[in-house]
Amino acid sequence: MTLILSEMQIKLLRAEVEKSFPVEACALLFGEHKEDVVTVDKVIVASNILESTTRFEVDPTFVAFAFEQAEKEGLDFIGLFHSHPAPATPSAIDVRYMKLWGSAVWLILSTLDGEIAAFRKLDDQTERVEIEIK
Ligand SMILES: [Zn+2]
Repeated sequence: MTLILSEMQIKLLRAEVEKSFPVEACALLFGEHKEDVVTVDKVIVASNILESTTRFEVDPTFVAFAFEQAEKEGLDFIGLFHSHPAPATPSAIDVRYMKLWGSAVWLILSTLDGEIAAFRKLDDQTERVEIEIK
C-alpha cells in the first residue's frame, strides 16, 4: 500500500509537532482510498487531550465532528498521524490501538530524528506503508 501526501501537508505536520513538543502531536487524515493507494486531501490537526509526552488521545466528540465534515466533503477517513519520542515505528500501545482503528493508516513522526513512516494493521501483522510525497 502507498500513502500519498503533499509537501505542504508534511510541512503542516512538522510545524504542528514543533508547536506541541514535547507533548505528542496528533491529526486525522482524510482523502481518497483507491485500491492500494491512499491519497491525503485533508489534514485535521487535533489536540492531544492527554497532554502527554508519550501518549495521545483525541477527544471523541472532535473525531465525530471531523468525520461528519469529511463525509460532507466526500472524503474517506484514511488514518491517524502522531508524533512520538521514539523511532518512527508503532509502540506497543500504538499496536494495541491499531486493532481498534481497523484498516486505518498510522503515520508516525519520530521526534528523535524527524523520520516519518506509515503503517497499518493487516490481519495480525503490522505492515509498512510506502510514503510518496508529491
Ligand atoms: Zn506512538
